[in-house]
Amino acid sequence: MANEEILLEVNNLKKYFPIKGGVFGRVVGNVKAVDGVSFYVNKGETVGLVGESGCGKTTTGKVVLRLEEATEGEILFEGRNVLELGREEMRSLRREMQIIFQDPYSSLNPRMTVGNIIGEALEIHGLARGKAKEKKVKELLEVVGLTAHHMRRYPHEFSGGQRQRIGVARALAVDPKLIVCDEPVSALDVSIQAQVINLMEDLQKEFDLTYLFIAHDLSVVKHISDRIAVMYLGKIVELADKAALFKKPIHPYTQALLSAIPIPDPAIKREKIILKGDVPSPVNPPSGCRFHTRCPYVMDICKTEEPEFVDWGDRHFAACHLEEGAPEREVL
Ligand code: SF4
Repeated sequence: MANEEILLEVNNLKKYFPIKGGVFGRVVGNVKAVDGVSFYVNKGETVGLVGESGCGKTTTGKVVLRLEEATEGEILFEGRNVLELGREEMRSLRREMQIIFQDPYSSLNPRMTVGNIIGEALEIHGLARGKAKEKKVKELLEVVGLTAHHMRRYPHEFSGGQRQRIGVARALAVDPKLIVCDEPVSALDVSIQAQVINLMEDLQKEFDLTYLFIAHDLSVVKHISDRIAVMYLGKIVELADKAALFKKPIHPYTQALLSAIPIPDPAIKREKIILKGDVPSPVNPPSGCRFHTRCPYVMDICKTEEPEFVDWGDRHFAACHLEEGAPEREVL
């Protein structure tokens, strides 16, 4: 169960990718991939970060780990400003902040044995060598549901689910505090997704881990998250405890995402909200509320004034001009 000690705090984070053009390669614009994102993650907690592809969720995860450099903002990890750390300090911090990638096929070096893939991190951080390293790798493989025999095999000899287990073992090798899970099950069959998510939940309890869990689909984060942040076009539009978000979404975009989750009971029907149009370009996001070009409840004010991201009660944050939030929808 999550406690209330903050491990990671992100304030007004921005990541712009410059667009260069003309003969002199001048900057002619910016892709505003992340445009003023703030949230925190408590120790032992899982925060789900959800949104359609291109909303900036993966970039947020990468900037938090400094795999991409931030354009602006503040990232505090246990109170230390990550963006101000030098190379050496960052190297040692990397041990505490790990990532599990989306694609278990391309994220593992095909020319290395599984033992070397997992052992590499132990060596880089000076945690174990020789026999001690081998012992630790064996232990890690068992922790993620594989066996010591798998050490000498290569990634192509494993299924997608097994490869993601190897990715998890590699992240765990350095005993991290935070793991950014970047769509870790999206590339897997639905039947395997639940196994990997269950494994991650078990490991979280066993090793006292904190997760920032990125996914494009609310049904994936539903089970594992304590709180969920919904992103749209570079901004978080709603952030709440999971139960509150599922019970009464405030933002119409969250409501649309929720309507896409299948209900397992065939007797219950819920109409799926089909959003019109595509996600606008992050180079030139719409004025006012960025969702106004697709929102079924759009009003005049939405086109000119950006709604503030405020607490609607019980730490349920949302940015919307609707007085009562998105109207409740009938479930038949
Ligand atoms: Fe829709 Fe307006 Fe709310 Fe934006 S502010 S989500 S356009 S109702």
